[in-house]
Amino acid sequence: MSVNLQTPIDYLKGVGPNRADLLRSELGIHTYQDLINLFPNRYIDRTKYYHINELQRNNAEVQVVGVITGFREVAQKRGKRLVADFKDDTGMMELVWFRGQKWIRESLKTNQPYVVFGKANWFNGKFSMPHPEIELQTEHETNLRSAMQAIYPSTEKLSNKGITNRVVSKIMQQLFLETKGQFSETLPQTMRSELKLLSKSQALFNIHFPKSPDLLARAQFRLKFEEFFYIQLQLILKNLIHKSKIKGFKFSKVGDYFNTFYKDHLPFELTDAQKRVLKEIRSDLGSNAQMNRLLQGDVGSGKTIVAFMSMLMGLDNGFQCCLMAPTEILSVQHYNGLYELCKPLKISISLLTGSSTTLERRHIHETLENGDLQLLIGTHALLEDKVKFKNLGLAIIDEQHRFGVAQRSKLWHKGSSQSSQNETDPNEVGGAIVPPHILVMTATPIPRTLAMSVYGDLDISVIDELPAGRQPIKTVHRYDNNRLKVFRFMKDEIAKGRQIYVVYPLIQESEKMDYKDLMDGYDSISREFPMPDYQISIVHGKMKSADKDYEMQRFAKGETNIMVATTVIEVGVNVPNASVMVIESAERFGLSQLHQLRGRVGRGAEQSYCILMTGHKLSNDSKTRLETMVGTNDGFEIAEVDLRLRGPGDIMGTQQSGVLNLRIADVIKDKDILAQARYYAKQVLNLDPSLGLPEHKMILNTYRQMSKYRNIWNYIS
Ligand code: ADP
Ligand code: MG
Repeated sequence: MSVNLQTPIDYLKGVGPNRADLLRSELGIHTYQDLINLFPNRYIDRTKYYHINELQRNNAEVQVVGVITGFREVAQKRGKRLVADFKDDTGMMELVWFRGQKWIRESLKTNQPYVVFGKANWFNGKFSMPHPEIELQTEHETNLRSAMQAIYPSTEKLSNKGITNRVVSKIMQQLFLETKGQFSETLPQTMRSELKLLSKSQALFNIHFPKSPDLLARAQFRLKFEEFFYIQLQLILKNLIHKSKIKGFKFSKVGDYFNTFYKDHLPFELTDAQKRVLKEIRSDLGSNAQMNRLLQGDVGSGKTIVAFMSMLMGLDNGFQCCLMAPTEILSVQHYNGLYELCKPLKISISLLTGSSTTLERRHIHETLENGDLQLLIGTHALLEDKVKFKNLGLAIIDEQHRFGVAQRSKLWHKGSSQSSQNETDPNEVGGAIVPPHILVMTATPIPRTLAMSVYGDLDISVIDELPAGRQPIKTVHRYDNNRLKVFRFMKDEIAKGRQIYVVYPLIQESEKMDYKDLMDGYDSISREFPMPDYQISIVHGKMKSADKDYEMQRFAKGETNIMVATTVIEVGVNVPNASVMVIESAERFGLSQLHQLRGRVGRGAEQSYCILMTGHKLSNDSKTRLETMVGTNDGFEIAEVDLRLRGPGDIMGTQQSGVLNLRIADVIKDKDILAQARYYAKQVLNLDPSLGLPEHKMILNTYRQMSKYRNIWNYIS
């Protein structure tokens, strides 16, 4: 290829320094390459012509053929406007100009067929088109133009400075002229013919100047596939390098702790899914590579016991293990639960949180470093520099979406204190340090395709089955004016010995209002459920953690009937006797939050209920969320709807990963293409992990070039 695509955009004919500056600052276009990768947002079909009687009030831009029958000048508040009557066989409309009237009047002829293009507004009982694109039909037919007109991303500044879509389109044409439309191929011939992909040059041409809807679709497919393919290649390669380079502690045996627990102390039969996941983890831990695994499991699917038994494998091989949870309440709860399981096994276990006293801390630091302490549970207090393990073999992170990437990566360096001191990047040293095995757990399921794309470098396990005997939670939506009925229902449940959560939203911006709502709610519940017949707990973010803890404990022990709370209970709390979840202002919660909250009930054998309270005014999205909650208990299904409503940008941790900064593909809409691209990426790497084969030279080169521009190597999970 003769033209170097790294040429600065200034050199393109028709661009010049001013436009180049604007293109750089507004659209990030520095080079020819950047410009060619400016993909249109949408297309307007210029093959379609409307008759005037077919126009609709909500049409976007339309194209009409007709003749001008006469001009009028109409006075208005300031100045005047020029109006042309425009007619075809089916009716009349108006063309309107507010500027450049003299010139227009002189250059347009009456009673000659014109093609006009623009947005037709309904105004004073007829359609009128302000400042149409207009050309004689004879010219229109000879002009070379593509059937579908590309509409490019733009900014207000660009259009104010005269860089309209038409200008961008012209510049793009110029680029194709200078390069002769020839661009280096980036996918091997075999792949292209198997998938019937357009060549790179054809695809780029048709994405900018589609010759037909069909060619446009094929161009889009080809470019999306390519984008996914190289990202997947990068992720899978990273995983492979990880496995070969990053040594892990080999947990060679399953020993007494695990076996004794399994035989004598397991409180229930494991589900098949739990067993399968334990096997997957076991096989990772027994290999020489470091485990880097994501465990997805819906709320209540029993991830904790899997975490515990994995830690037993660590202990059996003489290692320390830790479990980190995002909140104090959750850490305490994990600690209490695991403490009971550890007792008969004589395992030493401690809890470290922000509220641990100096004395407690000192003891923990000491016993961690001399190896007396086997298990450490806690919040991100675990990440403090002072916390040093003698030999940390396995670190587990619960509800990992609550943690940032930086926090997670810190755990890497908590391995054995001797070796990890002076290293900063475990990737670079290739085995010189041994990081602990990492298991991250999440109850916010994300669809597998998305998980592959976001966490493509992690191995994924899924617990897709709830423990036996769980009844699906019954979910209903009630309006605020039915509150008395809801109270009555709550009383009936309490009479049966059940406990109830009532949750209020707490959303940062309106914190004051939210606390008022919470307190008003608490007051009215206190009136409705008076002492001494009823006991009520309240927990919110402004309380001291000791007080929160105390109230949580009272509720967990069954001393109180109702827990009034803000979303602090969202994550992980386990009180099996609680069977009713009332969510106030449910329309203000996101879907995954609602699902998490609902997961707090339905943990025992009793029928559980979730009541979504709202006012009458509901947005469409709110309605969809409520209907989804009422319609299904399946976390994966809910996650799909959530994705559709919110887009992938919001999904846990993805903002940081940068993997979703796609140019043309969309991980949700194009998930089938993603799956295909991943399949091919895997095939290539299975055959040729170092991309050394001659037929993969093209892939290797493209890959190297891409990695220069797009760095996704810097996130550790
Ligand atoms: P999550 O996956 O949401 O963290 P937990 O680990 O807290 O779920 O488990 C939820 C509840 O289910 C706990 O009370 C736990 O003891 C119980 N549980 C877990 N596994 C089983 C099982 N196989 N059979 C019966 N109950 C189980
Ligand atoms: Mg949990």
